[in-house]
Amino acid sequence: MLRFFVFIPSRRGVCRFRVSKLLCGLVLFVGLPFVVQVCLFMIPLVFHPIYSQLNLPERHRFPIEKYVGIRDELIKRGVPDSQFFRPSPISVETLKSFYHSDYVNALTQGTLEKQAMRRIGFPWSEQLIERTRTAVAGTCLTAELAVTEGKALNLTGGYHHAFADFGSGFCLFNDLYLAAKKMQQYDGIDNVLIVDLDVHQGDGTAKLAENDNDIFTLSLHGEKNFPHRKQQSNIDIGLAKGAEDDEYLSTLEEALTLSLRQFQPDAIIYDAGVDIHVNDDLGHLHVSTKGVFERDKQVFQLASQLGVPIAAVIGGGYQRNIIALVDVHIQLYRAAGVIA
Ligand SMILES: [Zn+2]
Repeated sequence: MLRFFVFIPSRRGVCRFRVSKLLCGLVLFVGLPFVVQVCLFMIPLVFHPIYSQLNLPERHRFPIEKYVGIRDELIKRGVPDSQFFRPSPISVETLKSFYHSDYVNALTQGTLEKQAMRRIGFPWSEQLIERTRTAVAGTCLTAELAVTEGKALNLTGGYHHAFADFGSGFCLFNDLYLAAKKMQQYDGIDNVLIVDLDVHQGDGTAKLAENDNDIFTLSLHGEKNFPHRKQQSNIDIGLAKGAEDDEYLSTLEEALTLSLRQFQPDAIIYDAGVDIHVNDDLGHLHVSTKGVFERDKQVFQLASQLGVPIAAVIGGGYQRNIIALVDVHIQLYRAAGVIA
């Protein structure tokens, strides 16, 4: 005779209960579609507590607390712990296969010249290197999860001012370029489109990808914002100071259409910097919170229309009020369908 048992782990070991066939059938009938549904529609999120762990001098410009703030807000809004994936630091060897060895060695060993460190904008520490290696790995993991699941989001990333042999503007190693290369290791993914909507031009990414015909870079930024010496992306659009929602969103639509005329992507990497927001301390644009949401929705809609995977990172955002800043970053997760 067939018997059904339920095994429940407890402090004293695993307990075994005999249950009726009827109950088993009922549980399977009611529960299974729910479990399948949750598994099918759960959008992978990538986070590590180290994202927010960096000792900085008092009044330092960088809002290091925002990453854990975004995680906490997502959990508060009902995202289960099981939806978060935790990256392990990228190896120094992998970094060296994409970036100049001398730079990787000097930076990871703490022997980079003072001036080069000043250009990055963080004081050197072991913690900084560990955090950066983990964050870069986070974007690579996000890219891989996007390939298998269709869509994935990192709770940090967007180090677009990092070049092959130097870093700048809070960026040490360029995660966007590495993630594009990671995606291209998968069958069927040859062409990767990097959509960079941070208010600052994606100069490092543009330079790194300048000879890669299979990586297309689009940068929509504030013309008067850093970097003052811009590099050449495949498409660059510099908006004037004070641009608001309507101008921003219609320009983005044109830029995306123009990109698709020149390039057929098999995958998209999206830098969703929120320093375009009207209250941002560094950005010169005046886009509202609703405008940020509409922008993010446009990019996700493009990926879904094309039927290609999309990996998103949060990019820049510089308001001293962390709660207000998290509220703007959270629009990305609303637009992606992670939360309502
Ligand atoms: Zn930025």
